Amino acid sequence: MGAEFVVIGRGLMGTACARHLAEAGCRVVLVGPDEPSDPARHNGPFGSFHDAGRITRNIAHDPVWARLSTRSLARYREIEARTGIWFYTPCGGLMAGLDHGAMAGFTAGFHETPRALGLVHERLEGARLSERFAMFDLPEGSKGVFDPAGGHIDPRAMRRAHEALALAAGAEVVAEAAVGREGGTVILADGRSLSAEHVVVATGGWASAAPLGMARPAMRVFQRTVVLAEISETEAARLGDTPSLIWVPENDPTDRYLLPPIRYPDGRIYVKIGGEDLSPEARDGEALNAWFRTAGGDEAGRSLLADLVKVMPDMRIERVLTAPCAVTFTKTGYPYIARVDAQATLLTGGNGAAAKCADELGRLGAVAALGGSVAAEGLGTDFAPVFD
Ligand SMILES: Cc1cc2nc3c(=O)[nH]c(=O)nc-3n(C[C@H](O)[C@H](O)[C@H](O)COP(=O)(O)OP(=O)(O)OC[C@H]3O[C@@H](n4cnc5c(N)ncnc54)[C@H](O)[C@@H]3O)c2cc1C
Repeated sequence: MGAEFVVIGRGLMGTACARHLAEAGCRVVLVGPDEPSDPARHNGPFGSFHDAGRITRNIAHDPVWARLSTRSLARYREIEARTGIWFYTPCGGLMAGLDHGAMAGFTAGFHETPRALGLVHERLEGARLSERFAMFDLPEGSKGVFDPAGGHIDPRAMRRAHEALALAAGAEVVAEAAVGREGGTVILADGRSLSAEHVVVATGGWASAAPLGMARPAMRVFQRTVVLAEISETEAARLGDTPSLIWVPENDPTDRYLLPPIRYPDGRIYVKIGGEDLSPEARDGEALNAWFRTAGGDEAGRSLLADLVKVMPDMRIERVLTAPCAVTFTKTGYPYIARVDAQATLLTGGNGAAAKCADELGRLGAVAALGGSVAAEGLGTDFAPVFD
């Protein structure tokens, strides 16, 4: 008996969607390549979760994103307990910004949203902020909101946990890229084809860079760089109380984010920083794949390192690496989640913030694929896609 659903995209949203469809009793095939062991020799596609750290938090500047995160965060421990795969570190999440300048609205948003949604949070400014988080040297006048349930997740491990639940519910995994789709027929890179009653396209930035048999979703895909600053075991112990941080540097039109010391698969401990004002846009799938084969941008790397040294001036850095990634911004500022026709559903558009809420986004993708209304799920938006 053929599959009812083929989910293309074994990333954060696609794997969560496959989990929810399989647990709803559907016959599901999840399609997508493994993370490459040697990126420089991989043809692509890659993924925006190939990392050991992603910030998680309930608080946000926008109520839709806060609801998506809160619903997902509330299920982390259950997913961990059911799979024995641990991915959530609640070391606290701090957001800090200025109430003037280009990002004043952002600061007002992450102060107002937790209050309006009744989320547990703490407001700090002035001496209270600098004494409580002495590891950070934040701009004068910064206003902070602290989320005790915030912290970080290991996106690779969370994806593995979702896949384990999908497999336990009877799903199949095909570790291959899709190169074409016609209705319910999916063509794989190795020449095989799969057929299903319905296909979910959850290919992240590749959904617009290389659409699979549907109109091009209106999204901008930016080639990002992150800096990984290696620190010693002693320094990591000294910084043991460091929360995850999102802040607005002085006179800056955008925010930066920082992950506390995390042990990476190479056994070393890194503090990671990211967030760029300007980064190149990927014009197509090949350009995106080529970007992931690099070590990221030198100039962006230098500028991020300068920001890191400024906000954590006392941290002793042993070595600095840069790495590539990609973020996908939609026209609406929210992910696109919708049935686009009787045989296909679109689930994409992380806007640089979907790792923490991938479980809920995957669940909404399953609702849409099963013919339900995501607008009726109480998130505060209908996740309607916009096409080019
Ligand atoms: C540097 C960086 C830092 C970030 N930090 C945070 C953070 O701190 N907190 C947070 O919540 N979010 C963060 N994000 C955002 C988050 O990682 C993304 O929003 C999330 O990964 C998007 O999920 P996705 O499933 O849409 O895409 P992905 O996770 O990229 O998954 C897409 C999958 O589709 C596969 N695919 C593509 N084309 C095909 C094809 N033709 N056939 C088969 N498979 C295909 C890819 O290989 C990939 O596995 C960050 C992103 C970046 C780049």
